[in-house]
This record gives sequence, structure tokens and C-alpha cells, in this order.
Amino acid sequence: MTNAYVKIYPVLNGTCILVHTEDDQFILIDCKITRDSEDPNNQVFFDVKDDLISILPTNSYGAPYVDLFVLSHPDQDHCHGFENHFYTGKPSNYTKTDKEGHRIMINEIWTSKIIYGEVCKDAECIRTEVSRRRDLYTSSDHRIGTDYNRLSMVGYDDDQEFTDCPSYYPSDLVSYVAGKQTSYLSVFIHGPFKKSLIDSSATGDRNLASVIAQYQLTSPDHNEKLLLLEGGDADHYQWAMVKEKTEEHSREEYLYFDVFLAAHHCSWSFYNNRPYNENKDPAVSSRDLVSIYGKPNCLLVSSSKEIIDDENNPPHYPAKQQYAKDLIASGKFLCTGETPNRAEPKPIIIELTNTGAVQGNNLPDKKKISKAEKGEKQFAYLASNPGTRAFGCE
Ligand SMILES: [Zn+2]
Repeated sequence: MTNAYVKIYPVLNGTCILVHTEDDQFILIDCKITRDSEDPNNQVFFDVKDDLISILPTNSYGAPYVDLFVLSHPDQDHCHGFENHFYTGKPSNYTKTDKEGHRIMINEIWTSKIIYGEVCKDAECIRTEVSRRRDLYTSSDHRIGTDYNRLSMVGYDDDQEFTDCPSYYPSDLVSYVAGKQTSYLSVFIHGPFKKSLIDSSATGDRNLASVIAQYQLTSPDHNEKLLLLEGGDADHYQWAMVKEKTEEHSREEYLYFDVFLAAHHCSWSFYNNRPYNENKDPAVSSRDLVSIYGKPNCLLVSSSKEIIDDENNPPHYPAKQQYAKDLIASGKFLCTGETPNRAEPKPIIIELTNTGAVQGNNLPDKKKISKAEKGEKQFAYLASNPGTRAFGCE
């Protein structure tokens, strides 16, 4: 058994994924804190906040913290509860009230420039924090690039909002998180592409701008890997581009997955345009992505409400059926709203073992990781190796 795992929380239609690496880095991909969700009568909610607090280490400010928060795109179902449950502002201003409220601190934030468009209230709060951090990179403030002030932009920035910040582009391979290099995690950035960001700004469709990445967790001996492929609410056009560009540059290793998060909460938009009635033919590129790149015993996870055979979209019943058809025989389709049962969903946990990735719910309830406290250190920004960037700044 290794220490690495991926935990996908049941948050109805929305995304909240905790990634833990062998060297105790905690990465949160999107958040939807369902403790105070707007829809209490639908199902018994899993208390995401309580669970995070029970797992996350505490820093020198007395705050629970994550090393990295990746915002796929600034929609409500990907950042619900951020304002209430996460700390924003200068790290040293973390108060007793923040501590009592267990407000979570974030060492480093990844976001695209789409955060500066029209966004929901929680995303506005993220934007304020992003601006605070961004401005540190342009000032002579001595805390530039220090713990809990870090920010990296993902994707093309035609408005030059992030000129002085570290930035990552499609085809970058990142192994540098929260100010340190790790050999137990690498994140291959697939998207958003420049075109998707421009289209997103022009149409106001934030889904197009979703951050798409393969997260690769590695075992202590580096022999085993857990591959999570995740792309927020990107549709079949973005995924087709990801597949085409990656194959064109012979980088197929970054398309393989042990866990694939069904795009846009199992929406038909992964397979064709909506509405389904007018566009019933699934895109070949999407079908191939699922069937070719799923590893043995892979999981296809719909982060959504239970999937009922009705007209809803998402989650969309025919999309679920299509995924099931496209998955390799040993693959399995799971829905967070139905696991282990529809009455009381629990997180889906995928652990990295000495024989590869396996689904398991065997983690102790109160898994506490003790971790050396971090002070505010000056950091030397280490850009990802430009030699790994195959697509230029697309
Ligand atoms: Zn969504």
C-alpha cells in the first residue's frame, strides 16, 4: 500500500476531488462544500467540510491547508462554499475566528484568465484572492512567491492579466507544487487551449475554458502509477482537440487513465452537441478516448446526482449508456450520487497500491497526516522545463 489516493466527493452535480500524494501533498480540484448545500431534501449529504478538516494537516497559523487548489472554471458547481470555508487574504492575518471556523488556507492557486470574466459570487471571492496574489508578483513585496501567496495561471492570457505570474500552457508537465519539486506527482496540462479561452470569452460559455489535465501519482518505488484524467465541464470539441494534439506529438502516455471524470457531470456534451434529440451520434474521438486510453480495471466516474432514465442532462442517461458501451470490459462506470447507494452516497476513493490503482474505501476515517510546518520562505520559481512544451503557447 502507498499513501497516494484520489477521493471524489459526492456533491450532486458538481466537482470536489482531493488528491493526496506519496509525499503528503494535498491537491483540491474544485470545491463544492455541500454541508450548506442549497438542496437539502434531495439526498443525505456527505459533510465534505468535516471530512476535509479530519484529513488536512495544520500549518503554523493553526489553519488546515491544501498545497494546491485547482479551479477548473469559475462556475458555482465547482466553487460552491469557497467564500465561507476558505481563507483569503494575507496569511499572517488569519484570526482566531478563522481558526475556530476551520477556514482552509491554500498555498498555491491555479486558475485561467477566465476568472476575470463574469462569474458567480464564490468565484468573485476567488478572483479577489487571485488579484491579491497576482499583485504580489508585480510589486517588490518581499513575500512574493511565498507560502499561501502562490498563484499560477493556466492557459493563454491575451488580456495580459497575469504577465508577471508563473504560467502553464497545454503540454507543460508540472512537478512543482507549493514551492517544491516532487517526484510523486506530475500534472500534464492538456487545456484550456488558446482557442477555447477566446471562444469562452466571446460566448460567455465558461465550460469551454475548463482546465484539462492528467494527474499522475507515483508509488514510493516509482513502479506504479495512478492516473486521473479530469477536464471539468469541457465538451467533445475540447476533448477532441486534446486527443488530436497529444497523439500528434506522440504523447499518448498522458491520455491514459485509471480514473476518468465523466465530462460535465455525465452530460451528452462529451459525445455531441446538445440537445440529444437532434444530435444522437456520439463523436468518434470521444468514443476512442474512452475505449483506447482506459487502463485495465479503470473507473469512469460521474460526479453527479443519481442517473435516472429520464430527459435530464446532466446527468444524462444515454451518455451513461454510451460510456458503458465504450469502456473496456474490465472498466467500471460509477456515479458519486449512487455509491455505495443512492440513499447515502459516500466518497469514491481510488488508492494506489503496490499492484496499481484500485477502488477502495479502506482509508481510516480520521487519517491525519503529520507534516512539518511550513514557514514563509522566499521561493525561487522553477519554471516547468520548456523542453517539455510541445505545442508552444496554444
Ligand atoms: Zn460543472
